[in-house]
Amino acid sequence: MLTNKTLIGRKMSGQNKYQTIIGAEIHVELRTQSKMFCGCKNDPFGAEKPNIYTCPVCLGLPGALPVPNDKAIDYTIMIGLALNCKINDVSAFDRKHYFYPDLPKGYQISQQAKPLCYDGYVETSYGKVRINRVHLEEDTAKLQHTTIEGEKVSLIDFNRSGVPLVEIVTEPDIHSPEQAKEFLRQIRNIVRFLGVSDADMEKGSMRLEANVSLSVDGSLPNYKVEVKNINSFRFYAEAVKFEQKRQAELLDQGTTPKQETRGWDETSWSTVSQRSKEDAQEYGYFPEPDIPELDITQERLTRIKQQMPWLPQDYSQYFIDKGVSSAIAQELSQDLTRAQYAKNALESVKDKSLADKLAKMILNKKVDMAKVKAEDLAVLIKKQEANKISDPSKLEPIISQVIQANPKVVTDYQSGKENALGFLVGQVMKQTRGQADPALVNQLLRQHLS
Ligand code: ZN
Ligand code: MN
Repeated sequence: MLTNKTLIGRKMSGQNKYQTIIGAEIHVELRTQSKMFCGCKNDPFGAEKPNIYTCPVCLGLPGALPVPNDKAIDYTIMIGLALNCKINDVSAFDRKHYFYPDLPKGYQISQQAKPLCYDGYVETSYGKVRINRVHLEEDTAKLQHTTIEGEKVSLIDFNRSGVPLVEIVTEPDIHSPEQAKEFLRQIRNIVRFLGVSDADMEKGSMRLEANVSLSVDGSLPNYKVEVKNINSFRFYAEAVKFEQKRQAELLDQGTTPKQETRGWDETSWSTVSQRSKEDAQEYGYFPEPDIPELDITQERLTRIKQQMPWLPQDYSQYFIDKGVSSAIAQELSQDLTRAQYAKNALESVKDKSLADKLAKMILNKKVDMAKVKAEDLAVLIKKQEANKISDPSKLEPIISQVIQANPKVVTDYQSGKENALGFLVGQVMKQTRGQADPALVNQLLRQHLS
């Protein structure tokens, strides 16, 4: 569907002839104590050596039996609820078959027909993005390609094998690189606020994929290009922009772009073909026979709902109710530590303009959150305000005194050295023990010296 927003002002030339259609796939590693189907420690990034957190289950040895991690299931449901999803009352695991050395079983335990969560949405300022599903699966081992004694080798580290991995899949509702960025940032923030993952793209605990195609008439095209290997929001937007241009050029020539998997290449700032449709994999899903279906009871859902922490939009609404302007409230809700600090700082504040002022100071990093306790901030600011000398008649005598005591600096300033003024302002501030209004001191000094 074309929205009014995308239609207005569209030029009918080059890539502007086409509507960009993007579906996102996001993988997030869950921060549980143990792995998805065994008791091994889930700490692939903290491990001192490769292959120390392993057992027959996560090494994929024959006969080993997987047991699902309840915490990981709770965390996945939390993500689903935060993304306005429905929760399946009966959910199930499936085997997704493919052969690759990072997956010694020959299949990944994932979810196909009965994902834990489905049919949700996220609001962005460009429109709604529907969530197709949120499902739970296991991460693979990590391959490392290197050279040992002159020979090229591939090493496998199983510390990551079997780490709980959530996959979030959207409907093709994203229509621009900007919307993609906003949406992905929201997902990352939600996951972080829930405390279920650190969602660190550098380390790979959050991984992004884009399915990009261009539509001539607003309907879904009969091809899509999957772009992998993107490790930042910025590169995601760049990869989409590159595909917009590349695919538009092909379509302009009357060619349908090939359905394929491409990788974002940071050095050439472009996407590069990795796999085409001809060798596309058919995964051959079938139900995991070693794990019974999961009954998600009402009691469980109720408990999880009660335990849900505040999400960015909850903080934002709280700040607005306190009197913070909506743009500041929204910005302040992008980072968990800062949002919590601001919430604590505003708790006892009744005065709306003081609330807005505190919010701005916190947002503009004028408050040292490590030093000032949030609970003390309001009182501290009020005290500073009360003691502030903003009466010119009280400052005049100090200013005259500072001017007399520093003839050399005064001459410097008068001969054009602008920064000499800073020294004089500093002297006045020192004499008033920091209580003078610096802007006023500045203004008065300039008047005196001109
Ligand atoms: Zn294990
Ligand atoms: Mn997956």
